[in-house]
Amino acid sequence: MNLDPLSLYLHIPFCRHRCAYCDFNTYTSLGDLQSEYADALSREVRQVGELAEAVYGGQRPSHTLFFGGGTPSLMAPADLGRILAAARAAFPWTPNVEITMEANPGTVDKAYLTAVHNLGINRISFGVQSAIPGELALLEREHDFATAVSAIHTARSVGLHNLSLDLIYGLPGQTLQSWQQSLQAALALQPPHLSLYCLTIEPGTPMMRWLENGRIPLPDPDLAADQYQLACDLLAAQGFRHYEISNWAQPGYECEHNLTYWRNREYLGLGAGAHGYAHNVRYHIVKQPRVYVRRMTESTPQTFPLSAAVAGSHPVDEVEAISDTLITQLRLLQEGLDLAAFAARFGRTLDDVHGETLTQLESWGMLEKSNGRLRLTPKSYFLSNQVFYRLSS
Ligand code: SF4
Repeated sequence: MNLDPLSLYLHIPFCRHRCAYCDFNTYTSLGDLQSEYADALSREVRQVGELAEAVYGGQRPSHTLFFGGGTPSLMAPADLGRILAAARAAFPWTPNVEITMEANPGTVDKAYLTAVHNLGINRISFGVQSAIPGELALLEREHDFATAVSAIHTARSVGLHNLSLDLIYGLPGQTLQSWQQSLQAALALQPPHLSLYCLTIEPGTPMMRWLENGRIPLPDPDLAADQYQLACDLLAAQGFRHYEISNWAQPGYECEHNLTYWRNREYLGLGAGAHGYAHNVRYHIVKQPRVYVRRMTESTPQTFPLSAAVAGSHPVDEVEAISDTLITQLRLLQEGLDLAAFAARFGRTLDDVHGETLTQLESWGMLEKSNGRLRLTPKSYFLSNQVFYRLSS
């Protein structure tokens, strides 16, 4: 009987406007569906909770919940409240439960933040992205930096201190100086957590069209590497712990929910387009919110963790489990991969599985072993995908 706490990811697929670089599962014309969607999501939570109880003979607690999107902060507190009540009843919260909501700075005010805090949301991740007006315009974000500053102050004024800010580097036309300006403006706000992402220009986005028709230049990967290094240096000097490739935290403010992913532990993905991993199964939910609502209303569930809205699933075999373990745990820069735990789980050492590749990556100075753990070296942080590619092929 496995009654270990697990994590819940809850997808909210609504935005007011689609940003130029966005390829997330989000929709700008479905605002009228929000209340019905909240009911469907509550139903899915209850359904998966019942399936879990049937399999485990008891309720599994939840230690983290994460409202991601889309723009979860567009959802009315009453709708969020129904979802949270269902989640708490189906997967009782641990005493220190972390409940995060992604928020766009322009969508929140004091009344809203007070209401969501009262519902139990205790961590906000603000999509700030840049402090430079021209960069925010290029990304087609709806807010300006002053709005982000105001949202952060308001969050603190209602007792929400566990805050994270997202920033983007590697933008077309962004310089080392403008990146430094954004970083310093963000640091002046003293956030306990920062997520810094390198822009990927995805197929089908307006930004890809602009690139193809020459309206914007192709970002320079060497400059992006310099921007990443600048961030590493600046944040280290400010006492941040670089605990994951793209994430920095003041001690004690690491994102517990995302640590679940990076430790390759179980999480339930709920809501349109969500992905999940539990009971040795990976699965994803139908993407289109109207189809999702219909499935949750008309269809019947399968077995844990597969609700009525599942679009696909597969059991995780050993090859995939080894690859997932490596790719997720090596993202944790200090923790790394516990070599004894790996051998205990898979019945053979990592050297047995990947000896030649490991030797090569160590000789190139991209991986290092110490104190029974395998870690990326600082030299390979920015090139980690190349390490992961070699270890998963
Ligand atoms: S706010 Fe986020 S999810 Fe919504 S369109 Fe912009 S990048 Fe995409």
